[in-house]
Amino acid sequence: MPIYEYRCRECGEDFEILVYGSREICCPKCSSKDLKKKLSAFGMSGVEKPFAGSSSAGCTSCSKGSCSSCK
Ligand SMILES: [Zn+2]
Repeated sequence: MPIYEYRCRECGEDFEILVYGSREICCPKCSSKDLKKKLSAFGMSGVEKPFAGSSSAGCTSCSKGSCSSCK
């Protein structure tokens, strides 16, 4: 599902919206359709995801996260 960021030119509201097909989009605050599309932030920029099962295990004596000192 693509998420797009828009900024409303009427009221300056920034918002993210899921876009399905060519559905018409309007500002959630003032309902204006005069919007400026920004780059999608979906999974690319922004939050950096840690590798699953690596640092989250919190164990320094094994690499698999399955020894007795793993939580
Ligand atoms: Zn607006």
